[in-house]
Amino acid sequence: MSFPTYRGHLHYVCLGCGATFDIGELHYTCPTCSGVFVLQDLNFDQLKATPAAEWRRIFDARAASKIPALRGIFRFYELMAPVLEQGDILYLGEGNTPLVDSPPALRAELGLKTVYKNDGQNPSASFKDRGMACAFSFLNSLIRTKGWTEVLAICASTGDTSASAALYASYVGGAVKSAVILPAGKVTPQQLAQPLGSGAVVLEVPGVFDDCMKVVEHLADNYRVALLNSKNAWRILGQESYAFEVAQWYDWDMRGTCVFVPIGNAGNITAIMGGFLKLHALGIIESLPRIFGVQSHHADPVYRYYAAEAKDREYKPVTVTASVAQAAMIGNPVSFPRVRHFAEKYEQLGGTGSFQVIQVTEQQIMDSMIQANRHGHIACTQGGECLAGAKRARELGLVSAAETLVLDATAHHLKFIGFQEMYFENSFPAEFGVVPKPELANRPELIITQGDKDRLAEKDYVVQAADNVVARLGLAKK
Ligand SMILES: *Cc1c(COP(=O)(O)O)cnc(C)c1O
Ligand SMILES: [Zn+2]
Repeated sequence: MSFPTYRGHLHYVCLGCGATFDIGELHYTCPTCSGVFVLQDLNFDQLKATPAAEWRRIFDARAASKIPALRGIFRFYELMAPVLEQGDILYLGEGNTPLVDSPPALRAELGLKTVYKNDGQNPSASFKDRGMACAFSFLNSLIRTKGWTEVLAICASTGDTSASAALYASYVGGAVKSAVILPAGKVTPQQLAQPLGSGAVVLEVPGVFDDCMKVVEHLADNYRVALLNSKNAWRILGQESYAFEVAQWYDWDMRGTCVFVPIGNAGNITAIMGGFLKLHALGIIESLPRIFGVQSHHADPVYRYYAAEAKDREYKPVTVTASVAQAAMIGNPVSFPRVRHFAEKYEQLGGTGSFQVIQVTEQQIMDSMIQANRHGHIACTQGGECLAGAKRARELGLVSAAETLVLDATAHHLKFIGFQEMYFENSFPAEFGVVPKPELANRPELIITQGDKDRLAEKDYVVQAADNVVARLGLAKK
């Protein structure tokens, strides 16, 4: 196996004004109209000369490749960023995350065939690594071709984007300096820990996330900085790998498959639709899976848009309120124009109903996350949101027990563990509107007291503690 020889001719296409730009420059948004970009390969039709069966064989064979550059998301090199050279490509173990079938007990409870794709098993513990691996590999190629000695990788974030950006920047080192801009006092110690640990310069701004965003966008307009928020089209490209992996997992047969994705800034869902459309264009998959976006009722601008009849649709940002799906708590998604672009294409090919958006409550998100994790899953709150979406879709008669429902656990559940704690301790601030179900609560129980420990001889203490365990668990003697 050797590194692929095909090279694409990528350019930026603005979804606002249609202008195109060469990828030789660091573009974040359209210099003409500030619209968002998608990256398009002008040579894409050349890939059609290779039969679909051959593509499947190539991608399957690469699953056994010993070339690090082809082990992660670039297994699908020709569909991703076929302008990079082998040495540009970063591999920190991202991608190839497993699809884990829900155990029979959970499937029986749900009456649904659910499967979690654990994107929290990426290196910084969220799917953001897919896009960052692509964006930083491209940055590597720019540094190589332009001989840059310094470029600042920067993002505004309070969570997973900064953790991922700081990780990749610290791995690349050299010309790449890294900074993240956070709203002062609005991030938890956990959210701070990852970029600090990666050695990023962490800068704080009074205000909220949007204030930070304005600062970094001003920097991107005026200085040589690589802005790594999800408006960055290279991140969207890398995230397409999620779709390729789902298709490959099921041996390229997507009949009867539904894919559930939480929507925040809407980068991930558009990447996933874009990825499936590419596979379909090359005949690698013959049918498109149905896509369900999921939003909380506390942050649901995309749901509201699609809930209206097609002729009455009007996009309006919403004011968000507290959400446990914190990584998706966005009232004005930057990738909304991309959603519209890809959803339209998707429905043209996949038919009405092949793209839909489901709304769920905060209560349903929390109950579903706890339920999933009590059955061996490792879902974060956004993963809980996907399961809540699947249940809601069933209620609405949109999915059946015969279909396979792939749920995106976008981060590892430990990243959002504070919400589990609030659930178990019944300490949610009122604005979330979450009341724990007693049967799902869990807490440690002291099985013997310090007083007993002090009072009893060691041997008696051990027997007493064991007796208490037996009584608590109702153990039978062997
Ligand atoms: C970023 C993020 C989301 C939202 O994804 P978008 O691409 O912004 O829609 C969901 N879950 C987690 C864990 C995230 O980090
Ligand atoms: Zn434009």
